[in-house]
Amino acid sequence: MRVMMFFIDGLGLGDDDPARNPLMTAEMPAFRSLLGGRPLWRGAVPYSGPNVAAVVTDPSLGVPGLPQSATGQTAIFTGQNGARAIGRHLNAYPTPTLKAILNEHSIFKRVVERGLTATFLNAFRPEFFEWVAAGQPLQADRRYRPSASTVAALAAGIQVFRDFDQLRRGEAVGFDIDHHVLRQMGYDLDPVDPAEAGRRAARVAAEHHFTLYEHFLTDRAGHARDMDEARRVLERLDRFLGGLLEALPDDHLLVITSDHGNIEDLSVKPHTFNPVATIVRGPGAGDVARRIRSLLDIAPAILDVVG
Ligand SMILES: [Zn+2]
Repeated sequence: MRVMMFFIDGLGLGDDDPARNPLMTAEMPAFRSLLGGRPLWRGAVPYSGPNVAAVVTDPSLGVPGLPQSATGQTAIFTGQNGARAIGRHLNAYPTPTLKAILNEHSIFKRVVERGLTATFLNAFRPEFFEWVAAGQPLQADRRYRPSASTVAALAAGIQVFRDFDQLRRGEAVGFDIDHHVLRQMGYDLDPVDPAEAGRRAARVAAEHHFTLYEHFLTDRAGHARDMDEARRVLERLDRFLGGLLEALPDDHLLVITSDHGNIEDLSVKPHTFNPVATIVRGPGAGDVARRIRSLLDIAPAILDVVG
């Protein structure tokens, strides 16, 4: 089966409190369609419907402290507990210990080693390819530092990455979906409708056994604590999901998950202790979802069905 993972940074299961939780008021019909018509909050999960299942997923990794991105993503993209290995939750960029875990157990690498195809749908900036071509320098050139997801993908080789030429041809998706941030950064890109970006994502995914798309503006909006911006981010994300659901083949498995809570509670600036949801849509969704209790269960569950 072909599998697409849609990784959304900082999207937890919050309370039914519209003053703190933008997911209660944002227009999100695509997400609701996966949850029996309900918004994504703790009262809506677990859920199971025809070809779809959502489960509560523990991001704590059995380590005290607020869940963070580098260790949470290491868990998601390897099934290994990097937080326990380094004794804490780590934000932002992986340490050498986490990089070693990501290199050895990367889901991308394991898919490619089986003779299957994997791709990272996000379009990477030219600076990334220059950094790789320069031998991934650690000290001399700090212009580029890889996230956990990037290290996991690099373990499979540079061929899994997509560039801005592919983005312009509709064969990749920007981290910001519609290019509004990339255009502000000065990149020469036409705006794209979020639903069209979702349909492009589905077309690329249909050609690969494993596809990852990563979106982190949710986490940024959570840290910024701006309700209007948070709703805009979520509604853009939902329109992308709508296009994706519309165009993804029926026999494709979609796995939506997150590394920790954040945007679901704008009353606090840091991440939250809330659990996240893992939403699975496609053939056997219930069987896959049932196996997932923590971030550590996602990669093994995907690796058992991909191919
Ligand atoms: Zn964060």
